[in-house]
Amino acid sequence: CGIVGYTGLDTAKDVLITGLKRLEYRGYDSAGVALERAEGDGCVVDIVRRVGKVAGLESELAQRDDASTCGIGHTRWATHGVPSVANAHPHASCDGRIAVVHNGIIENFAELRADLEARGHVFSSQTDTEVFAHLIEEAYATTHDLAAAVRAACVHVVGAYGLAAVCADEPGVIMVARKDSPIVVGRGERGSYVASDVIALIDATRDVVVLEDGQFARLAPEGIEYTDAEGRRIEPAVTHIDWDI
Ligand code: GLU
Repeated sequence: CGIVGYTGLDTAKDVLITGLKRLEYRGYDSAGVALERAEGDGCVVDIVRRVGKVAGLESELAQRDDASTCGIGHTRWATHGVPSVANAHPHASCDGRIAVVHNGIIENFAELRADLEARGHVFSSQTDTEVFAHLIEEAYATTHDLAAAVRAACVHVVGAYGLAAVCADEPGVIMVARKDSPIVVGRGERGSYVASDVIALIDATRDVVVLEDGQFARLAPEGIEYTDAEGRRIEPAVTHIDWDI
């Protein structure tokens, strides 16, 4: 239903909660975030999810001493699987190193899930979305590149998606894809932002790129790269937002 993502200089959980609140008008049954956190020499992805209001998620996050500067968030309107913590987004790969949020419906998810399970993937939800986490995990094992892995995963998916993904092996990077589900991306003074609705972005920037079907964006704190389905660089048009909320 609603997607937000942020990588930059500020505390990600605050940016994500502000964005998710802006998207509440659309209605939803649960909400969650995935936040990257430094651990030892590396990085891990923490997932926090709640059934009910964003305010509930906010108070849970307030109790955590989390200075993460990169994360993704979601408000879910269940289509596949009941509203529950296990079905709330973000969804993670088996190894917990990749997390995704998704809007839309994956029409061939049952088939994809059966194939993934046959290859040893263990699922922890009833959602269609979770196949994305496992498909990206599988592709990442050969590409070792989140951008390439997300593009490869999308080749298998039939249906509609706005997608944002993070990977603990590429701290600070958010990969975004879209097909038949809106995604806007923008660069502000304090970092790079993504949302499913421009309303969640305009506090940070008024110059946004409205992704088209089959376009991908790779967000990093210092900038955003756009590619087509083959990974070729593209320069999408920038839209200036001149209205106020
Ligand atoms: N189909 C997904 C689910 O049921 C995403 C729903 C949404 O767009 O919020 O979890």
